[in-house]
Amino acid sequence: MTRPDVLDTLVSLAKRRGFIFQSSEIYGGTGSVWDYGPLGVELKHNVKARWWNAMVRERDDVEGLDAAILMHPRVWEASGHVSGFSDPLVDCKACKARFRADKLGDAACPRKPSKKPGEHADCELTEPRQFNLMFKTFMGPVEESASVVYLRPETAQGIFVNFLNVQQATRQKVPFGIAQIGKAFRNEITPGNFIFRTREFEQMEMQYFVEPGTDMEWFERWKEARLQWHLGLGLDRDRLQFHQHTDTELAHYARAAFDINFDFGGTLGFQEIEGVHNRSDFDLRQHQAFSSKKLEYVDQVQNKRYLPYVIETSVGADRVTLAILVNALREEAVEGEQEGRTVLGFHPALAPIKAGVFPLTKKDGQPEMAERLAAALRKRFPVFYDEAGAIGRRYRRQDEAGTPFGITIDGDSTANDDVTIRFRDDMGQIRVATSQVAEVLTRYLEADHPRADSRLVG
Ligand code: ATP
Repeated sequence: MTRPDVLDTLVSLAKRRGFIFQSSEIYGGTGSVWDYGPLGVELKHNVKARWWNAMVRERDDVEGLDAAILMHPRVWEASGHVSGFSDPLVDCKACKARFRADKLGDAACPRKPSKKPGEHADCELTEPRQFNLMFKTFMGPVEESASVVYLRPETAQGIFVNFLNVQQATRQKVPFGIAQIGKAFRNEITPGNFIFRTREFEQMEMQYFVEPGTDMEWFERWKEARLQWHLGLGLDRDRLQFHQHTDTELAHYARAAFDINFDFGGTLGFQEIEGVHNRSDFDLRQHQAFSSKKLEYVDQVQNKRYLPYVIETSVGADRVTLAILVNALREEAVEGEQEGRTVLGFHPALAPIKAGVFPLTKKDGQPEMAERLAAALRKRFPVFYDEAGAIGRRYRRQDEAGTPFGITIDGDSTANDDVTIRFRDDMGQIRVATSQVAEVLTRYLEADHPRADSRLVG
């Protein structure tokens, strides 16, 4: 079954509601670079916080790191990026468009989008040539080859070069891991599909250092753990698949690699959102050779030294955010109403705003009571106060922002000191004492339970 293509709908919803804007839009935009607006920054922040909690805070065998984007240029020689981080590029002499030679099947001929590049009578594709994807710049005031530095194309190398620093500072014993979240830059030949492939993006990477011989066992464990993490975000099970790298896809140093693919729908279909790789001791061995510094781990229990193998989990924060948006988007009819509704049915933990607070009318003390409640709730989570327009409209606006709970203060509220909580997903409602609202919502958020089920009340 091909799922519908919702990217165009999402691009306009994301702009209208302030999730994601095109970078430098007033100047016509920058090629495939995007800015996160007020709701988008919260959503992506929640994704990153969930990853950080799962990978660092909830484990005692993984340490956090925040390495710099600019690194010594030798790092990229050792890692193989200077000589090998390239994609095959083909030009079309007829229309001047450029394509990745290995992704022609996913591209469209600009003259006739129903055809692939090369299929139209006018197409004149050149032979592929290698194009290095690293952005280059200069460190210091002189623009000469000796001062060339690169914007990192992945965060992983910051972890490899700090392997011993972290190990010695924390006294971790192998097996242990180092995790970080940060920006990466790739001068992609054919970026596109909204935030799926961009030239500036964020990665969440973890390198887990293990004793050689135990690597495949750890590889399997991490593969499973990472799939579970994606399921925990609320991504549908049948939209997730493993893809095993074939011999031709596998990097020469890798012992095994699986991608976790998500079904984005439409022609994009299943695409990688995360890679889980067994990188052997390739990276540490290369850095040891290029830096002439010993990077061996000293195993005092077994009285031996070795270069650990590395299991890497590498996931794009932006790509997962796109998967979450695609997975969450629903356009549905509402019984008894002419207009349907658009809902972003986010997992409550990811929702940018947790609750909308709405006085039914602008009189009789309702706005004051609502503002007091909103201020109290803001101490726990992001809240949106809205007194403008019909209540149905206000609910719809929050459905579209993915807000799981709506709290309405009506005529009875001021008399009885209670409010209605309305649930985004089933639109069910419960009545709760004002003093209990914060507790009840926290319980629902912790239970991942955005439905009107009164079992969680009281
Ligand atoms: P692709 O084959 O799609 O170019 P890759 O195999 O080069 O990806 P990795 O180097 O394994 O990707 O990067 C790990 C993760 O970083 C990817 O799974 C993806 O989520 C994210 N990522 C990589 N490149 C981009 C990009 N240009 N824009 C957004 N996210 C990216």
